[in-house]
Amino acid sequence: MPKKLPSVDAVMVGVGWTGGILAAELTRAGVSVVGLERGPSREANVDFAFPHIRDELKYGIRFGLMQDVSRDTLTFRNSADQMALPMRQLGSFLLGNGTGGAGTHWNGQTWRWTPYDFEIYSQTVKRYGQAAIDDGMLIQDWGLTYQELEPFYDKFERTAGIGGKAGNLQGKLQPGGNPFEGPRQSEYPNPPMKRSQLGDLFQNASQNLGYHPFPGPSANMTQAYTNPDGQSLGACMYCGFCERFGCDYNAKASPNNTVLPTALATGKFEVRNNANVVRVNMDSSGKRAVSVTYIDLISGEEIEQPAEMIFLTSFTFGNVKLLMVSGIGDIYDPVTNKGIVGRNYTYQLSAGAGGTITGKDFKVFAGAGAESVVIDDFNGDHFDHTGLGFLHGGSISASSAGARPIQSNPGGSAWGSAWKNAAAAAYNTSVGIGAQVASLPFRENHLDLDPTYRDVYGNPLLRMTFDYRGNESKRTQYLAEINVKILTKMGAKNVVGRGVPDHYSIVPYQSTHTQGGAIMGLDPSSSVVNPYMQHHQISNLFVVGASSFPHNSGFNPTGTVGAVTYRLADAIVKRYVKSPGPLM
Ligand SMILES: Cc1cc2nc3c(=O)[nH]c(=O)nc-3n(C[C@H](O)[C@H](O)[C@H](O)COP(=O)(O)OP(=O)(O)OC[C@H]3O[C@@H](n4cnc5c(N)ncnc54)[C@H](O)[C@@H]3O)c2cc1C
Repeated sequence: MPKKLPSVDAVMVGVGWTGGILAAELTRAGVSVVGLERGPSREANVDFAFPHIRDELKYGIRFGLMQDVSRDTLTFRNSADQMALPMRQLGSFLLGNGTGGAGTHWNGQTWRWTPYDFEIYSQTVKRYGQAAIDDGMLIQDWGLTYQELEPFYDKFERTAGIGGKAGNLQGKLQPGGNPFEGPRQSEYPNPPMKRSQLGDLFQNASQNLGYHPFPGPSANMTQAYTNPDGQSLGACMYCGFCERFGCDYNAKASPNNTVLPTALATGKFEVRNNANVVRVNMDSSGKRAVSVTYIDLISGEEIEQPAEMIFLTSFTFGNVKLLMVSGIGDIYDPVTNKGIVGRNYTYQLSAGAGGTITGKDFKVFAGAGAESVVIDDFNGDHFDHTGLGFLHGGSISASSAGARPIQSNPGGSAWGSAWKNAAAAAYNTSVGIGAQVASLPFRENHLDLDPTYRDVYGNPLLRMTFDYRGNESKRTQYLAEINVKILTKMGAKNVVGRGVPDHYSIVPYQSTHTQGGAIMGLDPSSSVVNPYMQHHQISNLFVVGASSFPHNSGFNPTGTVGAVTYRLADAIVKRYVKSPGPLM
């Protein structure tokens, strides 16, 4: 029998941005919250201190801050006729682990998605007709509009001190910003990042081509900043150690230096580390979640934590797996198109161009995770798709994130004199620009439980079936050609473009933007949660984060993850706490 603890008001399964935002907002309203986090505690001023945090081998290559795949991983196959095999080392995506989750080692590119994204189905049909939607493509409206999310985007940007330049203030276009963005009520809380030399070239080239460049929004602080909760952050030094690292300057907004200290200061929040949740427990009616069961990874004990409200905040794979192993909802079957949990799994596609520019000293060692100049002209439905044979698009950017020596090895060899020669020849002359491209849902791309492989706790591994289908390669090819055009205009020689390859590979790193599986919507027959990420049938269970996104856009997801989470927190505090039950 597991040890049973006294009940609390709310439990968060996972303590990253989503668990942290909810903990801060709920505890301030007097709600007691326990955060169960499978990874270790991470204190920014100890764990991210200079010089040890700049160990590229430990953190950048050996993934020191990320999920331990010897305990839990997922299996992967491109299609249902293949046998899925376990991912035995991290590759395509780098999953968070420990207090702060992936928010400790993210880049900080913090976007609002386009209004089209939230109404993608109805806007597509209105402009192009039903026939424009590929066979087997499952795009659907989110049941939520950009306008409804706008105040919560603003709230996340203020909490995280985002630096940028507004392009549309209350419907009025602003010079220097993104003219395609949805209307904003106010300017970013901080000015944009400094522009790199590569950024200068991109700015001029794309402007000359008639596009609309602007500085990418950044959670790397552009000046010292104190957020509305009183949390202070330092200014970014452009050291180039953002993605895969904690920030030793305290200059990258993360849950650890924003929402978590805010929650802890209330005295109503407890984080329990090394606590791996293995199950959500239901009452006999099946309509109410009563507790979660976790394994204390230090003692090996099985412990039950009852709570009035249960929030799954364990990122896409964690959330979907917990629903499935707990028997909550029917698992999606792509053959019959029945079942919902695991449906609409999407990723982030990419396209780009590379070449060489000689005679310049780009100082590529310097940079910041979100330093970029971007164009949004070919994202969403900002351009006419008639006759193109694909929907949506992507954002194109020149980014200077800092070229660290091991990861940025430009040669064919990873060590020795071959590496040195290649590095000397190409480190400062090989240049690239790239596009983050939307990933739309297809019937075959889904998550379910693996029939063969199990984690160390005895649960089946999550199984991913994913490949590029329908119009996906056309979209990336189109964006690759624009990348080539811009890079050539920037003065590069030997320019080569790339879209996605024939098949998705789980081996090389691409991005940790994995969405879907427990998607939101108004109709319970095609969504797991309502647009507040509240379970349709179990009103005290909330499945929070990118698992709820019905598709992925041409921008990074965390701005939208923050916005939907603040919207949920607002509804809990203002309505649910007084009158528990369905929020809509
Ligand atoms: C290298 C990298 C770079 C990125 N850069 C960007 C960027 O520039 N812009 C952007 O928008 N996004 C970026 N992202 C994505 C961003 O980090 C995530 O969108 C965001 O952190 C998600 O927050 P979350 O709270 O949903 O999940 P997470 O941050 O993943 O937190 C979930 C937590 O749950 C815990 N957990 C999981 N399962 C269990 C369980 N069973 N029991 C207990 N605990 C559990 C995990 O250990 C983790 O700490 C990046 C991600 C990575 C890895």
